[in-house]
Amino acid sequence: MTFFENTANQKHESIHQFYDPETGLKAIIAIHSTALGPAAGGCRMWHYDNEQAALRDALRLSRGMTYKNAMAGLPLGGGKAVIMADPSHPATEDFFRAFGRCVDSLGGRYVTAEDVGVSVGSMRFVKQVTDYVAGLEPEEGFAGGDPSPWTADGVFLGLQAAARHRLGTESLGNLRVAVQGVGKVGYDLCRQLHKAGASLVISDVNQQSLERAQADFGAKVVATDQILFEDVDVLAPCALGAIFDADSIPRIRAAIIGGAANNQLAAEEDGQRLFDRKILYAPDYVINSGGITSVSLEYMGGKTESDVAAHIALVPGRLAEIFAASDKKQVPTNVIADAMAESIVAAGKPGLS
Ligand code: NAD
Repeated sequence: MTFFENTANQKHESIHQFYDPETGLKAIIAIHSTALGPAAGGCRMWHYDNEQAALRDALRLSRGMTYKNAMAGLPLGGGKAVIMADPSHPATEDFFRAFGRCVDSLGGRYVTAEDVGVSVGSMRFVKQVTDYVAGLEPEEGFAGGDPSPWTADGVFLGLQAAARHRLGTESLGNLRVAVQGVGKVGYDLCRQLHKAGASLVISDVNQQSLERAQADFGAKVVATDQILFEDVDVLAPCALGAIFDADSIPRIRAAIIGGAANNQLAAEEDGQRLFDRKILYAPDYVINSGGITSVSLEYMGGKTESDVAAHIALVPGRLAEIFAASDKKQVPTNVIADAMAESIVAAGKPGLS
């Protein structure tokens, strides 16, 4: 597929490439949609094998942001920046200021924030040259800062909605939950689940993170190649994408899947595979939208932590709507969510605000 066929295929509005010889910055900013507002999505810094791989990531992730922001009811479109990082060339303040100038040159059509490989500290340098940035430290009580706890809040509320729908229980207290990845979001989710009385099974490739969650929550630790197949009620993926496929799905024993990881389904048809097995899948970009909600309300300005919490409280209702439509139409939840997101974008006004 050629460059233009690829972008036309996924219906992106525009793709921008930047090269700054002085700092070595090579960045792509993909704007998928501005139908609901400025295209918002983080900046990912990664050692891509080649330019095609970086472009593919920017196209895929920016489209995902359109769907996520639409379903979160935010007045934002979808975009994403990727920086091709050379590990032998560490990013400097000048490097991020150069990136900030790229963002600024788009005149507000794209708003950036931190994502994989980029810290809040780096965003401070971006902020020196552009206002089209969020994810910085907030003033006391105001929206902003690390989005991870907000993502965990949304996942927790979303799992309650899933339990209500699939298991007929309001409480997660008596449930067994397997959490894959106990990093920033996974750890906070475990904290909330433990407080609610759930029993936890965890795995992580990072020994330190694992030991911390084990000690703090009395969680049972299992091998990383076993966590998806534990005998639990709920499976919460909070590490990697593309984990549900034709190989893993037949071995899953959980009744519910809902977690923070992006792009959990290896392919769209894996949603059908989960549906056929009667496993209730909470679409990832709906249940993990707490973080982008915090970042977005920070960007809008003047919004408090209570505003963020009130907005995230809408996640379970949105999921309940998806679950009910899936039952009624006998169509997988991922297909229902995509159709809802597309109709919100087509209508041109945010669905929930
Ligand atoms: P993180 O890096 O803090 O945590 C991820 C954890 O997963 C780490 O502890 C890592 O060691 C572990 N891990 C990696 N490979 C693993 C494997 N094979 N098996 C088990 N554990 C493994 O990241 P995070 O911020 O907690 O985000 C978790 C996921 O949620 C990511 O996929 C991220 O893209 C997604 N997400 C995060 C946010 C947010 O607000 N942080 C928002 C939306 C989506």
